[in-house]
Amino acid sequence: MHQWTTSELSYIEENAGKVPTHQLRKKYGCSLDALRGAKKRINADRFMKGLEPISLRFDKPLFVCPNCNQKTDRIIARSGWCKACTDELKLDSYHHRLEIVDREAQRVQELERNKAREDAVKRELDNLKQKKRTVVKTLVKHDLSARTEKDTVCETVTTTRDHPYSEGKRPE
Ligand SMILES: [Zn+2]
Repeated sequence: MHQWTTSELSYIEENAGKVPTHQLRKKYGCSLDALRGAKKRINADRFMKGLEPISLRFDKPLFVCPNCNQKTDRIIARSGWCKACTDELKLDSYHHRLEIVDREAQRVQELERNKAREDAVKRELDNLKQKKRTVVKTLVKHDLSARTEKDTVCETVTTTRDHPYSEGKRPE
């Protein structure tokens, strides 16, 4: 077991949490257990002095998130914010994108409704055109037969009137 000197103990007390344990172990060529033993001794001493205990847990250097001003051990490069803020940002942009998609879907639906209405109008127009064609055909047929009848009558009349025998003249 490592025999700790007072200066070593005060160095550990000073640097606990600021220097990774593997570096302390390398510096003193000791095991993790030996380091923990040192910590126990330091903390017992600090307890007597009414001081907070030290921890060997190495805290990574902290950054301050510019969005929430909270200390964080990790800044997400893409956003420049902490993970929580980045997640919120992602959620915001997700919601934003969702809104855009919703609006687009509504527009498409409206266009489809308009198209359906247009199609219905077009069908109705086609029906009317078809009806008109039938009516015109019927009219034309009637008109033609009427005219044919009239023409026949006229012809008959003409024939009767203009016929040389019509006035009782008998051929000689
Ligand atoms: Zn943040």
